[in-house]
Amino acid sequence: MRDAEKGYKYTECTDRHNSQSVSECSRFKMKALLVIVLASALLCVLQSYPVEVDLTLKFDPDAEDQVWKVKTKHPENETELSADSMDISTLLEKANANLDKIPDGTVIRFGDIAVDPLGSTNADPCTERSCKWPQSPQGTVYIPFEVSNDFSLQDRAIIEGALSSFAQYTCIEFIRRTNERDYISVQSLSGCYSFIGRRGGRQALSLNRRGCVYHQVVQHEFLHALGFNHEQTRSDRDSYVNILYENIQRGMEYNFNRVNTNNLGTPYDYDSVMHYGRYAFSSNGRPTIEPIPDPNVSIGRAVQFSQIDIERVNRLYNCRNYL
Ligand SMILES: [Zn+2]
Repeated sequence: MRDAEKGYKYTECTDRHNSQSVSECSRFKMKALLVIVLASALLCVLQSYPVEVDLTLKFDPDAEDQVWKVKTKHPENETELSADSMDISTLLEKANANLDKIPDGTVIRFGDIAVDPLGSTNADPCTERSCKWPQSPQGTVYIPFEVSNDFSLQDRAIIEGALSSFAQYTCIEFIRRTNERDYISVQSLSGCYSFIGRRGGRQALSLNRRGCVYHQVVQHEFLHALGFNHEQTRSDRDSYVNILYENIQRGMEYNFNRVNTNNLGTPYDYDSVMHYGRYAFSSNGRPTIEPIPDPNVSIGRAVQFSQIDIERVNRLYNCRNYL
């Protein structure tokens, strides 16, 4: 009989005549409740923890809010990502998300550099031909430009403010085009991009109104037009940064190719407005560019050109009064 009681005491708790059985039954219920509570707590922790599947989040080129999405998926990177959200490569990447080939046949390489489709895609065109803008006998380099009517007054103020910063620190002076043969035509085309150096004739420099009209982006694109490449593609970059190819979006690796640049005797510059950010073209929210030897050094966060950017312009164009 006692054996028989034991057989059902864990499933039947209403036996008021057997106090021992009821007490054991209550203990069992308590244990079961405890297990459920612990299991729920564990599930909650797992759900809020950034598990591996989140870290392999694919970059969605259609997403306007890419940075925000990555940020919420990777709470451990939140501070860093939100601080980096206005870095030059994040701005360019967002604005150029769907940009590869633009209607007139121009091809975009390295994120925002326009190249002739028939030209070389790897070599710096400036090493193949003269791409500098001419210098007046007095030493000033006048560069004619026009700004399309697509821009608002506020856009124009930002663009012109960035252009006048060149005249403040270098011998480059951007002037309104009248009838000059070679000039830069600033337009709101798809994305932000520029050719490297003077191309000859009318050359487009695109600053899309939705995403490119920022002081640092304007300076960045005009530095391309003056002849400069991205800092992280410099010929000597491997001594200063590691490129983490395993974190780069598939098919975007070419953006990190080294270029045979003319470094003009200037040091590698993490603060250059031409330096991409730590997460440029990341497929998974992890860094693609890491400074060496100290990976925590800040990179690609410039909101205007650096002292070394200015020095480089002055050296390339032999700005005697500014050197
Ligand atoms: Zn660029």
